[in-house]
Amino acid sequence: MVGEDTGKIRAVFFDFVGTIITREGETVTHQNIVREILKRAGRDDLDVIAVWQDYERESSRLFRDLSGKRYVPIRRIDEEAMRRVGEKYGFEVDDGFWDVSLRMHAVHGRAFPDAVKTLKTLRSMGVHVGLITDSDNDYIETHLKALGIYDLFDSITTSEDAGFYKPHPRIFELAMERAHVSPGESIYVGDNPEKDCRGAENVGMLSVLLDPDGSKKELWENCRVVVSRLFDVVDLVRGLNGS
Ligand code: CA
Repeated sequence: MVGEDTGKIRAVFFDFVGTIITREGETVTHQNIVREILKRAGRDDLDVIAVWQDYERESSRLFRDLSGKRYVPIRRIDEEAMRRVGEKYGFEVDDGFWDVSLRMHAVHGRAFPDAVKTLKTLRSMGVHVGLITDSDNDYIETHLKALGIYDLFDSITTSEDAGFYKPHPRIFELAMERAHVSPGESIYVGDNPEKDCRGAENVGMLSVLLDPDGSKKELWENCRVVVSRLFDVVDLVRGLNGS
């Protein structure tokens, strides 16, 4: 059920990696996953950074092919990427891979410094705060709880819930259904001009790109608004709502 369109922003949805948590923290997390997997395989003689670079290349290649497609568990993609790297370097990936991955994300993930303030301020303004993320449910729950921000979201919508990856419309539509809002009342904030901005705009949501260092300038045209800090979203909503 969608309420009557008030012309005001009633919901702000966020992407997760690169928007709520930093890319830098994610890099440290992935390096520690590799370090732990090598230790378990008895191959701590290998160069962690070299193996990690191959892992990143392999997993981004697998993920690129999944853009907008039907959901398959990310744990399977990540495991497959690590197994391919293991074949190259000669180590085994045991079945504890996903537990290691969840644990490292929980320990090393870092939220942007203004994330908590942004989420809390929006909620205090009566705005629904949601998450729309290409994630497995166990991953996102573990991660948000470790960061202590799980309760700051009114709704969490994953590719696992929607059955599709961004920028497929279904994941955005499901999130709006859960929040009982229309596209004209919704903002989506992300760091990927293709998946986030175009995905949101395709369903009629207002897209906001978080681009702290301006490195995505050549793709800004995909997004309606570009901000350099998360908290700028609060000012944007205040401006649009005249409050
Ligand atoms: Ca992202």
